[in-house]
Amino acid sequence: MPRISRRSFLAASAALATRPALGAVPPATPPGIDVVIVGAGAAGIAAARKIATAGRKFVLLEAADHVGGRCVTDMRTFDVPYDRGAHWIHMPDLNPVTKLAPRRGIEVYPAPQSQKVRIGRRYAREGELEDFLTLRVRANRAIADAARKGDVACAQALPNDLADWRAAVEFVLGPFSSGKDLAQVSAVDFAKTAERDADAFCRQGFGMLLAALAEAIPVKLSTPALAIDTRRNVAVETAQGTITARAAIVTVSTNVLAAEMIKFTPELADRHRDAFGKLSLGSYDHVALELADNPLGLESDDLVFEKSTNARTAAILANVSGTSLCLIEVAGGFGRDLAVHGEAAMVDFATDWLAGLYGEEVKKAIKRSNATRWNSDPLALGAFSAAAPGAQGARRILMEPAQNAVWFAGEAVHETLWGTVGGAWESGERAADAVLRRLGGQKEPEAAQAETAPKGAPKGKSRRERAAPRERRRYEATPRIMRE
Ligand SMILES: Cc1cc2nc3c(=O)[nH]c(=O)nc-3n(C[C@H](O)[C@H](O)[C@H](O)COP(=O)(O)OP(=O)(O)OC[C@H]3O[C@@H](n4cnc5c(N)ncnc54)[C@H](O)[C@@H]3O)c2cc1C
Repeated sequence: MPRISRRSFLAASAALATRPALGAVPPATPPGIDVVIVGAGAAGIAAARKIATAGRKFVLLEAADHVGGRCVTDMRTFDVPYDRGAHWIHMPDLNPVTKLAPRRGIEVYPAPQSQKVRIGRRYAREGELEDFLTLRVRANRAIADAARKGDVACAQALPNDLADWRAAVEFVLGPFSSGKDLAQVSAVDFAKTAERDADAFCRQGFGMLLAALAEAIPVKLSTPALAIDTRRNVAVETAQGTITARAAIVTVSTNVLAAEMIKFTPELADRHRDAFGKLSLGSYDHVALELADNPLGLESDDLVFEKSTNARTAAILANVSGTSLCLIEVAGGFGRDLAVHGEAAMVDFATDWLAGLYGEEVKKAIKRSNATRWNSDPLALGAFSAAAPGAQGARRILMEPAQNAVWFAGEAVHETLWGTVGGAWESGERAADAVLRRLGGQKEPEAAQAETAPKGAPKGKSRRERAAPRERRRYEATPRIMRE
């Protein structure tokens, strides 16, 4: 799976070390560090905020020159916010990230509820749409029924009578929702997923929202963790020196861990290493096209699927937040193979596919374009995790600490919200709680805040947050009927 070797990663790290990014904090090991947090994506930011609130000292290391990880907004490629990773804010009323979103400068608004389906050059009629939605519900139920009896691949559990909608149903439930083809996805993992049938978008970009939550947190950017030694305390090696702490929270993706980009001494137990492989990341990329004058005639944030006949298909998220940016979503086995051929091949596919659905004229409307290639990003090596058939239990294994000193966190370490920013956030908070217990509770908040907490870090739980556990239990216990 990994195509990037540890050697090339180390070389890249060394190069980064000699070229500190704008805004990077020069690394130094302040005395008395309690926790080193590796990775400043959603999980790392959440963990850091918790540790700061508890008044413990931490260092947050980030290999890239920016925070956000797989949830980052690109403001350079187009003149409008372009989320290169996560874009849908699932279940915004319950999502911890939206609950904490700053009121000023960030606008979160509901995503349209309806979806369109293209059948060749026309849209599906109401009856056809109903068929598609009904079959999706039936496919979901069949997977949930199979999961109650044991674990199989989702593909094995699908009803036989999906008729000429089979390829479209398989795309929506597999590549589009899970980043993998259904033959590679555990029915138990899929069935356990919390409902995600209400979504929102952030006008400034989901990555901007997440970055706003990290604003008050000190982060050592461009500082990859190279090795973690737990023989005596926890020593985290970087190209700029070693940081010693009492515990570590590692939030890098399962593919980065499986590729052994970080060396552990002593070696991690087999059960942990197996779990990384069983929770490998699927493939999901955006091909972003700037389309002048709305040639597709779609509304802001319209989501369009194709009644496809095979796996060479995609989804369209049109006119993102009312702009001329359209995202063509390619994923699963087809998306992975396509991305191997590079950005130009991805843009070509998206262009031809759109022309097939809307006519050749569309091609003339394309101005700037870009394609993400998360599988070859050495700091992610894929999009998001989906458990292999029989491997759902691996998520719980990743919740166990290594040597009672290193806790794993991130989207893969969540049983119901895997593959989401909200899930990564919750798992980061959970790991921070576990570390705080291990460290022997919290320091006196007032004194501790004065010592280490960043300005503006959350001081206590709001009424809504205190009420959240009950709400969340309900959320997580809800069986999924419709994934989207
Ligand atoms: C294309 C795409 C679309 C998606 N769409 C959605 C969506 O619509 N909604 C949704 O909720 N989720 C979506 N997701 C999933 C979501 O982005 C992730 O689940 C979430 O962002 C993962 O957060 P994390 O903290 O677990 O990991 P990451 O975001 O990967 O954070 C880990 C961090 O560790 C850093 N790192 C790596 N190696 C090292 C090292 N050696 N030392 C230090 N730092 C290191 C990385 O740079 C990264 O910043 C999408 C993902 C992708 C790729």
